[in-house]
Amino acid sequence: MPLPTATIRNEVSVPLRFADGYTTAARVFSFDGLVDGRENLAFGLGDWAATLTPGAGEPAPLVRPHSECLTGDVFGSQRCDCGPQLREAVERIANSGGFLLYLRQEGRGIGLYAKLDAYALQEAGLDTYEANLALGHREDERSYLVAAQMLLALGVSRVALLSNNPDKARQLRRFGMTVTARVATGVHLCAANARYLATKAGIGAHTLDVPLSAG
Ligand SMILES: [Zn+2]
Repeated sequence: MPLPTATIRNEVSVPLRFADGYTTAARVFSFDGLVDGRENLAFGLGDWAATLTPGAGEPAPLVRPHSECLTGDVFGSQRCDCGPQLREAVERIANSGGFLLYLRQEGRGIGLYAKLDAYALQEAGLDTYEANLALGHREDERSYLVAAQMLLALGVSRVALLSNNPDKARQLRRFGMTVTARVATGVHLCAANARYLATKAGIGAHTLDVPLSAG
């Protein structure tokens, strides 16, 4: 299906330093024309420029669409694994060259306050999917349409997808991307997120190897 065309609005270099001391450089892109109207960003990492003109047989850029999680990404919430996933993705993409797409769809697309409402329901015994449904949301409302728009604006039509989520690959293909490989991320397990990760693996069909007895 033809996507509405997005264009690069601006780009700027930003040196990154994470809490554990890891540093790398990013080229940060903003866009015009994204259909969700949000301020989504692409972070070009490592030798991302070389991946835009791959020679024959060379790998596609490593790409991770990461959905915003304020509590996990910024505050280190242990209710989910978003912070460690983001940190891992940045280093792995920097090592091989590619893009991290930071998508402003908080809480599986339901928003920050609704995510916290869902947490409150989880304290009452529902799992993360049941809680979203109880709030009148679908269990996962995330769309990767703008991710495909951003990639096309960057000149990327083939990606090696860094994700455990088969829905990301399915959606990106539907929006015209060639997914040459799906690269699994690590599992970031702790006592506080064990139940969440087990639910993700069991219901969301994520390819996670989670010990179900943990937590
Ligand atoms: Zn999170």
